[in-house]
Amino acid sequence: MSSVSAVAPRIPAFPPISRGPLETLQVNLGYRCNQACTHCHVDAGPNRTEEMPAAIIDLVLQFATRQRVPVLDITGGAPELNSHFRSLVARGQGLGLQVIDRCNLTIIEEPGHADLPTFLARHQVRVIASLPCYDADNVDTQRGLGVFAKSIRALRALNREGYGQPDSNLILDLVYNPVGPFLPPAQASLETTYKERLSTEHDVRFNRLLTLANMPIARFRHALAREGTYTKYMDLLVANHHAANLSQVMCRSLLSIDWQGYVYDCDFNQMLGLPLSNGHQRTHLSELLTRDTAGLPIVVGNHCYGCTAGQGSSCGGALGA
Ligand code: SF4
Ligand code: SF4
Repeated sequence: MSSVSAVAPRIPAFPPISRGPLETLQVNLGYRCNQACTHCHVDAGPNRTEEMPAAIIDLVLQFATRQRVPVLDITGGAPELNSHFRSLVARGQGLGLQVIDRCNLTIIEEPGHADLPTFLARHQVRVIASLPCYDADNVDTQRGLGVFAKSIRALRALNREGYGQPDSNLILDLVYNPVGPFLPPAQASLETTYKERLSTEHDVRFNRLLTLANMPIARFRHALAREGTYTKYMDLLVANHHAANLSQVMCRSLLSIDWQGYVYDCDFNQMLGLPLSNGHQRTHLSELLTRDTAGLPIVVGNHCYGCTAGQGSSCGGALGA
């Protein structure tokens, strides 16, 4: 096992896990974002300048083709701010990949992005959009003043293209994460409430709600430290660890690629600077074109309890333990 030393000795070492067959290539196009949310594990914001260049995007598509990876999961920052975003989507779809856009919704109201819903629909992109509550105040507290109203307008624009509608194959999933240092409620019941509230109050439709726990890293960790609640939150995660979730954590089947083409077990490890296990050297995607990553040990640390606590948490929502 590769493991990161514990921040506090009383936290038990996270159990060793290893990689399985690769199903998803999660590509971080850069850390620039039109928002600067309080919980952001990427520390993304308008002033970040990192952006995946065209040569690395070519490499991503080459890798996905050679390794027959079925899913291309595009994230950021706001990935749409990368000037190569639309080219990546179109080429990925052309190669038969299932393309996911992790969209913050408000990007649709930024100059030059009004036609994004039409573009995404044309390329059959699955949209996974952040909306941490159906209540405007909670969303604006976490994501910035006015974000809820903009998000609702963006969701309606996606609905008009057919996203989230009955009998449509255009998938629109929403992402919930808690506004504070607590675990998400049960995914299924919260989805029912979201559907009721968004439909009756805002005439908005969507497919599934994905509940994610906040990871105790980056901006959220700084907020916990400021409030003096970091230790309490870690205790909560450790106390609610479910070993059954270990078999489903996303790092078993996903590779995370940073804007320069370096490879990690997941987006969280990318942000912590913990590269794919390779004798402490960073591994570049170009070195993996013909290599099978199944069986490699996953680099784990205290933050991993954020994936296994309670019902579990992954890019695809609760793990169902
Ligand atoms: S959480 Fe998403 S929308 Fe908010 S700053 Fe981070 S990348 Fe941007
Ligand atoms: S943070 Fe989660 S996804 Fe990442 S390595 Fe740890 S358990 Fe796996």
